[in-house]
Amino acid sequence: MIEIPRQKPKFRFAPSPNGPLHLGHALSAILNHDMAQKSGGDFLLRIEDIDQARCTPDFEEGIYTDLSWLGLSWQEPVRRQSEHFPAYQEALQRLIKRGLVYPAFLTRGEVKSRVAAFEADGKSWLRDPDGTPLYPPDDRERSDAERQRLLASGMKHAWRLDIEKALKTTNAPLHWQESGDGKTGTISADPAAWGDVVLSRSDAPSSYHLSVVVDDAIQGITHIVRGLDLFHATSIHRLLQTLLALPEPLYHHHRLLLGSDGKKLSKSLGDTGIAEWRNLGLSPAELRRRIGL
Ligand code: GLU
Repeated sequence: MIEIPRQKPKFRFAPSPNGPLHLGHALSAILNHDMAQKSGGDFLLRIEDIDQARCTPDFEEGIYTDLSWLGLSWQEPVRRQSEHFPAYQEALQRLIKRGLVYPAFLTRGEVKSRVAAFEADGKSWLRDPDGTPLYPPDDRERSDAERQRLLASGMKHAWRLDIEKALKTTNAPLHWQESGDGKTGTISADPAAWGDVVLSRSDAPSSYHLSVVVDDAIQGITHIVRGLDLFHATSIHRLLQTLLALPEPLYHHHRLLLGSDGKKLSKSLGDTGIAEWRNLGLSPAELRRRIGL
């Protein structure tokens, strides 16, 4: 009988070094690590540092220190996104050639005032699942000649996915398989809810959505375990995976930890960092219990 080789499970924890890790990161990292161990798979660490203005070597160092203290070990080498911009550019070029992305020239301020003017008389501008106003249609509707003229003038621009065009090229509805703490089973993706998402920013040659799908494919990630705050982003990831002919991983979006104010933990609020707990004398085992593991 021919043995069909089973793909080795691969998990990853993918923090951004733009602040100290908090207990929510500990939950995510430990879940990934333990699931990898239980399934005989690999646990990878990826540093998502495309935002060079907010990411620092100190925060990156803090990630290694915190994870080691938690008793986790990962496969080397660690993938750092800032070292792989050409891979994201190559994926972007493929989408540009197919006419699925367009250069977007509106500044953040211009979008803001457009939305404010529209909402001034009581109407509401459509927003994405994170609450960000959808990008106005101006740049999508420009003629090719006008686009070329603006590009040639050296005007700063991002690249955005033309969501309607992109959806027309994928002829079947998109889904993913989910086993997390929210809805489970086959989930219908709704990429249209995100509007024309940004794939390459004017200040960075990629975006979160583009680099995450490219990296998950390059690293052969089979299981994506991350917080429920990224549940809806999976719709865009499934669309990009389909457009770029990348494999489809399995998804597990886990519960979020809330602070004493009932809000989800965030780096910017100076919430309960792993290092703070360590300095208070908590042991890794006590920290696991504190986060319900
Ligand atoms: N870098 C993202 C974050 O820190 C996580 C990305 C992911 O797991 O897909 O929130």
